[in-house]
Amino acid sequence: MMRPNSHSIKRRSSHSTEREFGGTLGATCIPIFLPLTVLYLISVSRSPEASVLRWPPLLPSTSHLWDPLAPLLLLGWIALHTFLYLLPLGKVSEGLVLRDGTRLKYPINGFHALCISVVLLMLLLWLGAPLGYLFELLLPLAVCAIGVSFLLSFYLYIRSFWAAHHALALGGNTGNPLYDFFMGRELNPRIGNFDLKYFCELRPGLIGWVVVNLGMMMKEVELRDSPSLAMILVNSFQLLYVADALWNEEAVLTTMDIVHDGFGFMLVFGDLAWVPFTYSLQASFLVVHPQDLSALGATAIVALNGIGYYIFRKSNSQKNQFRRDPTHPSVSKLETIATATGKRLLVSGWWGLVRHPNYLGDLLMALAWSLPCGFSHLLPYFYVVYFTVLLIHREARDERQCRTKYGLAWDTYCRRVPYRIFPYIY
Ligand code: NDP
Repeated sequence: MMRPNSHSIKRRSSHSTEREFGGTLGATCIPIFLPLTVLYLISVSRSPEASVLRWPPLLPSTSHLWDPLAPLLLLGWIALHTFLYLLPLGKVSEGLVLRDGTRLKYPINGFHALCISVVLLMLLLWLGAPLGYLFELLLPLAVCAIGVSFLLSFYLYIRSFWAAHHALALGGNTGNPLYDFFMGRELNPRIGNFDLKYFCELRPGLIGWVVVNLGMMMKEVELRDSPSLAMILVNSFQLLYVADALWNEEAVLTTMDIVHDGFGFMLVFGDLAWVPFTYSLQASFLVVHPQDLSALGATAIVALNGIGYYIFRKSNSQKNQFRRDPTHPSVSKLETIATATGKRLLVSGWWGLVRHPNYLGDLLMALAWSLPCGFSHLLPYFYVVYFTVLLIHREARDERQCRTKYGLAWDTYCRRVPYRIFPYIY
């Protein structure tokens, strides 16, 4: 007998009932706790002892939190990327089919935006702009990014009440204002053709992260005349990661963030504040805590990042290729299992090794980004620890969604590929 799945139940009722991220309590505490965490971690990274476990915790002095230049720079940066988004560069791609049967169009020009940003930054450096001043501006910039995240999330929440019912995300439409504000009610909020979620996902924050890193490197040059090997590695690894994401921008159209999650505080804050200001902690840590890195140590770290990147890229490309064209010669010979939806699941190749090989590669890279910072402090390892928790939680969310989508076929896949992320461990 056919079991009705939770999606069909939700489609029939006007409100979704499923709660994630700790329900209303999580949705109330996270928007308070995470912004404070960002400010706390930036303050700790630049303090001489850089101790995350210090008691009482190190609180930033209020005079360090504000600089009138910060809102100007932040809004100017968002305006620049809005302009670059609207430039008729690159191709236009269609997203997946929506619940009303339509497909939205998206400009694939994020890599152009990155290249233009890098050229502009080089020009600024050549003109003698003091990019190292970003080190002093980090806290005020983070405060402004947090402010923008709240304002944008309020706007998104309010405007969602004018959206058609089929345009609401299945998960962020519970009727509880705190929870829906956090999860996001509307799936693809747009102003004309300008897609707010797609824009925020990979542009101002992600490219902003590269700029913050470069600012930290220039600060190091100001202080010690040349960048350290550790700083060069951190900058290069993270630039590669951002460039890769933007080069493969089209792949974001099939991710959980775009396809499933509404656009609310969780994604807005993650994109605009969390990514640029916590993913750059290693670079800001290195400004105040220089590290000596041996040639052998550096080679081993480069190798680790290379292996992680290889697994991450190959596995993501294999699945994307398979989903786009299962008859393509690079994937047509892979073993698959059928599902009731008509889609097939890969059970050999990278997706036969573990159920999330892309997460495994991502985590190996995360470790390689921390190792140049040495072993004297915990703070540079914050990213690996946080990212492990995030990906384990994300894997569980994805698993729930796949079980709902694929039912018995998903169970068969799990039996065939028993490990989730780490072979023989988890
Ligand atoms: P994934 O790319 O892992 O996609 C999961 C989906 O893939 C499933 O919902 C399912 O969708 C499909 N799938 C799962 N198993 C199979 C299979 N065996 N065969 C075919 N299709 C399968 O999603 P994410 O968005 O979580 O991750 C994308 C990348 O982004 C990852 O590399 C991740 O590490 C990275 N990431 C980075 C973050 C950061 O902050 N740096 C944050 C989050 C993610 P369907 O069947 O419907 O196609």
